Amino acid sequence: MRIVLERVSAGYGKDLALREVDLEIGEGELLAVIGPNGAGKTTLLRVISGALQPSAGTVYLDGRPLSELGPREVARRIGAVAQIPEASFDFTVAELVELGRLPRLRFPDRLTERDRAAVKRALELVGLTGLAERRLSTLSGGERRKAFIAVALAREPTGLLLDEPMAHLDLKAQLELLFLFREWAGEGVTVVATCHDLNLAATFPRLALLGGGRLLACGPPTEVLTREGVREAFGVEVEVSRDPLTGAVQLRYFRLPSGTFRTGP
Ligand code: ATP
Repeated sequence: MRIVLERVSAGYGKDLALREVDLEIGEGELLAVIGPNGAGKTTLLRVISGALQPSAGTVYLDGRPLSELGPREVARRIGAVAQIPEASFDFTVAELVELGRLPRLRFPDRLTERDRAAVKRALELVGLTGLAERRLSTLSGGERRKAFIAVALAREPTGLLLDEPMAHLDLKAQLELLFLFREWAGEGVTVVATCHDLNLAATFPRLALLGGGRLLACGPPTEVLTREGVREAFGVEVEVSRDPLTGAVQLRYFRLPSGTFRTGP
């Protein structure tokens, strides 16, 4: 899916949380959205998924204005996972993931073999097959997040919008998820994920840095995660280096400008 935002502003009541954002995300692209708390990252995902109407500007999905696509059409194309995903009932994991297929069902009360296969694959991809019959209320934080990611995957979308998908996941699960994103992007799925861990974000090919609702920078990690860029956006002094094995940008956070916080030598 190709996603284009043209001078998009959006907010809540009179307060703007996104200001004149221009952004193009190509088919099969993997984009991490970074920025401090309240920068507008969730709001950006919400305008792309159609959950929030822009107050100005236009969002295009595959060349068509989002406002012209019905909610069902958008739901077929986009799998979105909220930062704190909620379910309306204490479903089992399998029931929840089946609900993810809803926009694709011809008859809302009937799953075909094709639908069941998509649900099975989604559960396998997040490693929850063994917990399919467990109720949501009995899951750990990370298992719960994986269940909601499976909901999005089961839809077989062409765009995935994930708000802090790595939160609550253990190290292995984070790396597996990153690997999964790359695989899906390789199949043409566009993946947009917000991420607070800048070292994880640095493994994405392109980053969009938001601050105060504005797009402050957009480009490869080497261009966005500079000492000056991080200082300006986050107010934190960092040391920037490269991972000797992968070449990925690595940040070491060593102090706030006041110098009161030290994790390094
Ligand atoms: P975080 O990293 O804390 O999740 P974020 O970058 O995702 O932050 P947003 O959730 O997009 O930020 O919020 C942007 C701004 O909009 C913030 O100032 C926030 O307080 C405000 N905001 C978000 N949701 C609402 C809402 N439903 N009603 C009013 N203001 C809101």
